[in-house]
Amino acid sequence: MRLRRAAVIGAGVMGSGIAAHLANAGVAVHLLDIVPPEGAAGSGPGDPPAARRAVRNRIAAAGKERALTASPPAFYAPDLAGLVTVGNVEDDLDCVLDADWVIEAVVEDLAAKKAVLEKVERFIGPGTIVSTNTSGLSITAMAAERTPGFRRRFLGTHFFNPPRYMKLVEIIPGRDTLPEVRNDLAEAIARELGKGIVFAKDTPNFIANRIGAFTSSLAVRLAVEGGFTVEEADELTGRLIGRPRTGTFRLADLVGLDTAYSVRKNVYESLGGDPDRAVFAPPAVLRQMVERGWLGEKSGGGFYKRQGERTLVLDLGTLEYRPEQKPAFASVTEVRAIPEVGERVRTLLRGQDRAATFVWTVLSRTLAYAARVLPEISDDVVNVDRAMRWGFNWELGPFELWDALGPAQVASRLADEGMSVPPMVRQVVDRGGTFYRQANGAAQVFDLQAAAYRPVPLQPGVLLPDLQGTGRMVEHNADASLIDLGDGVAYVEFHSKLNIIGADTVRMISLALGRLDADFDAMVIGSRARDFSAGANLAWLLLAAQEGNWEELDLAVREFQRLTQRIRRAQKPVIGVPAGRTLAGGAEICLACARLQAAAETYMGLVEPAVGLVPAGGGVTEMARRAQARIPAEVTADLFPLIRWTWETMTRARVSQSALEARRWGYLREHDGITMNPDRAIQDAKDAARTMARLGYRPPLPTRIRVVGERGRAGLESFLYILKTGGHITAYDEVVGRKLAHVIAGGDVPEGAWVTNEYLLDLEREAFLGLLGEPKTQDRIRYMLETGKPLRN
Ligand code: NAD
Repeated sequence: MRLRRAAVIGAGVMGSGIAAHLANAGVAVHLLDIVPPEGAAGSGPGDPPAARRAVRNRIAAAGKERALTASPPAFYAPDLAGLVTVGNVEDDLDCVLDADWVIEAVVEDLAAKKAVLEKVERFIGPGTIVSTNTSGLSITAMAAERTPGFRRRFLGTHFFNPPRYMKLVEIIPGRDTLPEVRNDLAEAIARELGKGIVFAKDTPNFIANRIGAFTSSLAVRLAVEGGFTVEEADELTGRLIGRPRTGTFRLADLVGLDTAYSVRKNVYESLGGDPDRAVFAPPAVLRQMVERGWLGEKSGGGFYKRQGERTLVLDLGTLEYRPEQKPAFASVTEVRAIPEVGERVRTLLRGQDRAATFVWTVLSRTLAYAARVLPEISDDVVNVDRAMRWGFNWELGPFELWDALGPAQVASRLADEGMSVPPMVRQVVDRGGTFYRQANGAAQVFDLQAAAYRPVPLQPGVLLPDLQGTGRMVEHNADASLIDLGDGVAYVEFHSKLNIIGADTVRMISLALGRLDADFDAMVIGSRARDFSAGANLAWLLLAAQEGNWEELDLAVREFQRLTQRIRRAQKPVIGVPAGRTLAGGAEICLACARLQAAAETYMGLVEPAVGLVPAGGGVTEMARRAQARIPAEVTADLFPLIRWTWETMTRARVSQSALEARRWGYLREHDGITMNPDRAIQDAKDAARTMARLGYRPPLPTRIRVVGERGRAGLESFLYILKTGGHITAYDEVVGRKLAHVIAGGDVPEGAWVTNEYLLDLEREAFLGLLGEPKTQDRIRYMLETGKPLRN
């Protein structure tokens, strides 16, 4: 199935976000909502149809506008909004006729959703798939009154907010959904929208919201009963236990307390037979807050409230606001620095204080609940773990956490406390002791039905998770590995913190280029981490500069330049896979590659000026080359505007908001690919590498580069002068901007001169080392290392 046209009904928070993300994937979308009351009245005499339509489409148009102004952005680039056509359900429902997919995303109310589906059925074509974006209502009940033909092509697709950024989509087939409909749509959502698919059963709240609502209801209850403050409970249910920093209460403020309330109420009412049902009963504090209109961030305050510079926090006992208090648990302070979540929680749980008891109760009851309801909500533990990691940003899913804490230990402590231990946990403890295990170099998971271990099911298009396993690893060091991907393709994988580029990274790519010549047909450079690379090792640069090791620094820059040029000139194709942050030196490695296969969420930029430097790994040279290559040598056209624009992007240290934007800025070229699903980008790069090798790849010919010369440089400098006198940039921004202007303009040569690659690389290096010696650059680097933010000195 290929998505070409879609319709989204309901242009609220979710509908507008889903429509924007469909547009990101290049799908033409109709976004419909109800007609507002003022549009329902008959049009007056002379009322032009266009104006009347605008009134009747007002709500959908507001939804589209919300997506356009969302932060972080919902669209990869604003002009993609052109793919979203707004309308209303009274005039425009016929748009579903030729849609491949119709998504209902109206309010969470069974009757309202049923009424929409009834209308949709009157218009859809025979091939259209219809889905609902419900948070937890029954899929089967929703379509009960529809025809069998409709029910076969109807299912749940539960996106998480915001749809562009949250990885999870739960797919929930109804009783009559055809397996091929479920599978085709799942594959299209994974491939074209880049989402992580989890299959859930049609039970109240499905997987993620069932376990999410359980654990947060429990935490609220325990906090109220145990006299814990809001801040304490958030500290104990946040990063400490591998969950987002927002913890329990701050997350509820973000979601909206009315939503949090109705989700709990819905599960409570629909889970008649669940022995743990009482946990879901919405706590009194939540009901009272909803009654008072204290709905969280959207209403200006919930458990937390901003008052000028101060944050106020709700006292759970008195329901009055008081100034924020930092929680102070000695036991938490002791374990906070332990980087690995399993070890952190295990260490904390050895204690007996209030904090340890609270964490134990929340975690053990949640783990036991997940194990008990597993057969009801999912076919296996893998789907549950993925749902919690992808939908709630937990570091470890419940069964991964079971393993980290030791199933036997948790089970025996639960039993000591008189709690029942779910039978499946007993089975696992008897069989092998953990839900997951490594066997013969591959990951296995305990299969409940078969009562045996089997390989962890792979998602289609995703490379094996055990790439580092037997026989594949060719070379390895602390920062990077060389892995044999098979089929003649070598893969250099970065795996250091933020994939900072240091000597080991350079060494590994160098070594791989050597092996490429002899042993492989093509090479891929990437990472399975979220970020390709945050750039060069600034701490090392700063130290070397402070110690005056200029020879060593000169050598290091030369080596990095040599590396990028070797990538560029390699006789066999080298494919880079930028993803997430791809900055400075990381971007320069990508710019040198024969082709890129970028993840759609790529934030790319030559941001060196933010730390008072200029790119010196061939980045400026490459961007100068690309700018002039847009104008054929035979054409007399002004190169300056192109150079000025490229220079400005760097001077302002701008970072693209998506791979699409990176392409518009020239960091990606037209022939570079974009993969929506980041998990599939390495596989796509491998496929592209093989094709390029098979088609007889040749490296680019050494050519000269036409530059704008002294006159162009003067133009760039006058622009800097205007910015400085206008107070837009600092005096030191001007210094750095001038150096960059000097390099990109080609130094002291006349306008239109043709210079060599090596000449521009020398200018890059000189400018870089010169700036590195400046105290203000060193201040910028130090500040960046300490705070992660740029210093405007
Ligand atoms: P919302 O209140 O922001 O938007 C609902 C929209 O539906 C409104 O614009 C409303 O005018 C419109 N609408 C109501 N009745 C309609 C009808 N008959 N025809 C056309 N439009 C109609 O709600 P939301 O947060 O976008 O939630 C929509 C759905 O997504 C709900 O089922 C919700 O449970 C689910 N959901 C929400 C989130 C979230 O975080 N907000 C996350 C996942 C799923």
